[in-house]
Amino acid sequence: MNKPKIVILGAGYGGIITSKKLEKLLKSGEADVTLINKHEYHYITTQLHKTGAGTAADRQIAMEIPELINPEKTNFIKGSVTGVDVKKQAVHLEDGQTVKYDYLLIALGFDIETFGIPGIEEHAFAIRSFRSTKAIYNQIIRQLNQYKEDKDSSRLTFVVAGGGFTGVEILGELAEGLPKLCKKYDVPFEEVKIVAVEAAPSVIPFFPKESIKYTTEVLEKFNIDMYMSTKIVECTPRKVVLENDIEIPTCTLIWSCGVKGNPIIQNCGLPVEKGKLPIDSYLRVKGMKNIFSIGDCSLFMKDEKNTLPPTAQVALHEADVCAKNIVAALRGGSLKAFEYHHKGSVASIGNFAAVGKVGNFRLSGLFAAFMKQVIEARYLLNLGGPSLIIKQHFGVSKEPV
Ligand code: FAD
Repeated sequence: MNKPKIVILGAGYGGIITSKKLEKLLKSGEADVTLINKHEYHYITTQLHKTGAGTAADRQIAMEIPELINPEKTNFIKGSVTGVDVKKQAVHLEDGQTVKYDYLLIALGFDIETFGIPGIEEHAFAIRSFRSTKAIYNQIIRQLNQYKEDKDSSRLTFVVAGGGFTGVEILGELAEGLPKLCKKYDVPFEEVKIVAVEAAPSVIPFFPKESIKYTTEVLEKFNIDMYMSTKIVECTPRKVVLENDIEIPTCTLIWSCGVKGNPIIQNCGLPVEKGKLPIDSYLRVKGMKNIFSIGDCSLFMKDEKNTLPPTAQVALHEADVCAKNIVAALRGGSLKAFEYHHKGSVASIGNFAAVGKVGNFRLSGLFAAFMKQVIEARYLLNLGGPSLIIKQHFGVSKEPV
C-alpha cells in the first residue's frame, strides 16, 4: 500500500519545527515526509539584524537543513515553490519538479510590506531573509570603502525605517557594530550618522510608556537621530525623502516597516484574506481537510476582530499543534484546537540592553538582554539539542552564501 505523503513548504520556524515533531510522532514507515525550502539552510530570523550589522558570524544565524533533520525520516528538497495545484494535490517548483502530496503544510513565511512608497522596492535594503540581510552588511562595507575614495559623507549615513521591534533591534546592532567596522576599514566613526524614522509618535509604540522612554534614552545615548511622527515618502539611490520636504542624503535605507504573507500563496488556488491564508482552529486552510498553514503566511483569528501577530513565538506554538493534527488527520483521529498563550516579548538594543514584557513583568536593561539570549538559546535547544548551541557558538561550519 502507498504510504501517505506529507509535504511541508518552508523550513523557517514553523516548517522545520513541524518536521522535527513529525519525526518523533510518526511510526516508522507510517508516512513519507518531504520538506521543501528555497535554500539549503535554515536561518534564525529573529537574529537577522545581527547579520545586517555584521555582529554575528554567519554560522550563528544560518545552519544547514540536512544537519538539522533526520534524513532517514525526512526527505529534504532544496527548491523554490512557485505554486500549488490543489485539484491534483501537487506542488510546483521553479526547476520544473512536481511533488505530490496527501497532506500539505504551507509555512512559507513573510515578505516585506512597502506600502507602495516610490523607490522602496528598488532601492531600500530589506530585512527579509539571510541573503537580504547579508546584502545590508555588504552595502555597509561598500559604503565605508567608497567613502575612503570620494569622501562623500552621505555614504556614512545609515537610515532605518520603522521603529517597531525589528527597527529597534537593527538600530542597536548598527550602533554597536559600526564603530568596530569603521576601525577595521579605517574610516572616522565621528562621520557616521545613524537615523531612525518612524511614522508613530515613538519607537515601539505598542509598549508601556516606561519601556518607550527606556528605549528612546538608549537610542539617544547611541547618538541616533530620531525622526518620530514622520513618514518616508520616497527613496532614491542617493537620498531618502521624508514628509515636509525633508531630504536625507544617504545610499542606505534599511526597511523594517511591517510584513505581509509570502506572495506565493496567491498561486495556490486557496482562499486569501489580508494577503494571508485564513486558517481554522485546527490550523487547516479554511475549507480544506488536508492543507494546513502556520506562521507568517497564515491568518488565525484570535477572536472576532483580532488576528495573531506574525511572530516566531506564534509559529513555534502552531508547529507543535500542527504536527499533532497532521498525524491525527492521517490516522483518522480527532484534531486539537489551537490556543495561543502569549509568553512575552523581548527586543534587543545591541548586546547589553533590551526591552520587553514577560507575563506581567516589564523588563529592561542588562537583565532583559540576558533574557533575550536565553530565549534564543531555548530555540536552538529545541532545534538541535545542546550540541547545536555549542556548534553554533564555538564550532566551525560551512558559511552559507
Ligand atoms: P520564516 O521563518 O520566514 O520561514 C519561511 C521559510 O520559507 C524560509 O526558510 C524561506 O526561505 C522559505 N521560503 C520562502 N519562500 C519560499 C519559496 N518560494 N519556496 C521555498 N521556500 C520558501 N518574532 C518573535 O517572536 N520574537 C522576536 O524577537 C522576533 N524578532 C525578529 C527580528 C527580526 C529581525 C525579524 C525579521 C523578525 C523577527 N520576529 C520575531 C518575527 C519572526 O522571525 C517571524 O514571525 C518568523 O520567522 C515566522 O516564521 P515562519 O515559519 O512563518 O516563516
